[in-house]
Amino acid sequence: MGAQQVAQRFTELYGTAPEGVWAAPGRVNLIGEHTDYNDGFVMPFALPHQAVAAVSRRDDGLLRLHSADVAGDVAELRLDGLAPGSDSAWTAYPAGVVWALREAGHEVTGADVHLSSTVPTGAGLSSSAALEVVIALALDDLYGLGLQRWQLARLCQRAENVYVGAPTGIMDQTASACCTSGHALFLDTRDLSQRQIPFDLAAEGLRLLVVDTQVKHAHSGGEYGKRRAGCEKGAALLGVDALRDVPHDGLEAALARLGDEEEVVRLVRHIVTENHRVERVVDLLSAGRTHEIGPVLTEGHASLRDDFRISCPELDLVVDTALAGGALGARMTGGGFGGSAIVLTRATDADTLTKSIEEAFAAAAFTPPRVFEATPSAGAHRLT
Ligand code: ADP
Ligand code: MG
Repeated sequence: MGAQQVAQRFTELYGTAPEGVWAAPGRVNLIGEHTDYNDGFVMPFALPHQAVAAVSRRDDGLLRLHSADVAGDVAELRLDGLAPGSDSAWTAYPAGVVWALREAGHEVTGADVHLSSTVPTGAGLSSSAALEVVIALALDDLYGLGLQRWQLARLCQRAENVYVGAPTGIMDQTASACCTSGHALFLDTRDLSQRQIPFDLAAEGLRLLVVDTQVKHAHSGGEYGKRRAGCEKGAALLGVDALRDVPHDGLEAALARLGDEEEVVRLVRHIVTENHRVERVVDLLSAGRTHEIGPVLTEGHASLRDDFRISCPELDLVVDTALAGGALGARMTGGGFGGSAIVLTRATDADTLTKSIEEAFAAAAFTPPRVFEATPSAGAHRLT
């Protein structure tokens, strides 16, 4: 959706042109899954798909919200009535951002918003973070708050955790706020230190396909909470602040200490090996050995499937079909139980692989997947 179109619709809805238009992307996570609530490492990159928002300030304590992607009129909320848990509609995401900004002491006196997004929702590509970050960046600009990108990400996470009530880590918002074109973002979720790692697929004759299985992960909340609680239990049993503190070369000893806590053993093993996989991918990309990250991605899938147990038949079918067809690597990405998988392939094999994945889905009588190419794109920015 272009800036002009969104601005024009804003003008139709609110009777005046917006003060500006901003964009914030969705993301895919290259490697580092479920590590972000264990103080660990993640490595997302921004998608070309993005939320675009036209925004103007108000000084009367009103927040008016409209999305081109949701049926319904403009929603009108009073800033002094914003309260965590009070809203179960999509408006909770942008309202939560305004709430978090105000709660942190920033003077925001109201806004009119119209937005439109090309990030598929519920596909594990972080449409929610795109929505939060585009609002946060617009308000930061318009109200001159001078917040750093990582601070915006933190506030958006707070909006999602506390206001919306979804217990997610910091990766999605940081990816949307901080990614840069042509790079993956190596993020240490403990201190939010980050490095932009060159990830130029085209130059290497490679492509990264995203396969949206169309299996919605809406019911994954309870399972997510269970995994998170299991990880916390593991850290407590091992006497560390977070599983991040279990070194890879100390894994066997740590698992031995967990004894017959079979489920905790599996969760701990995933987190510790996954952090190590992120470091291996960083090393490989930094050395220009992009082709070699494939097997590391595939190992990551096996770990999520067998140890963390959050895959599903559709995601496994993508991975198995891709590998059988000669892909360099493949894995599920995002929270799990549906959503999307990524496939790293030579550019010359991309079309054939896409076709075989579509055929495999048809043969299994699964809903047809949506396959698209992901190029590492820009993080949030102002359009006009
Ligand atoms: P994901 O972030 O993986 O896409 P979530 O469940 O975290 O999935 O967030 C999806 C929710 O975000 C939607 O159900 C909706 O409430 C909100 N959302 C995302 N994009 C839009 C949009 N363009 N307009 C309105 N709401 C949206
Ligand atoms: Mg989300």
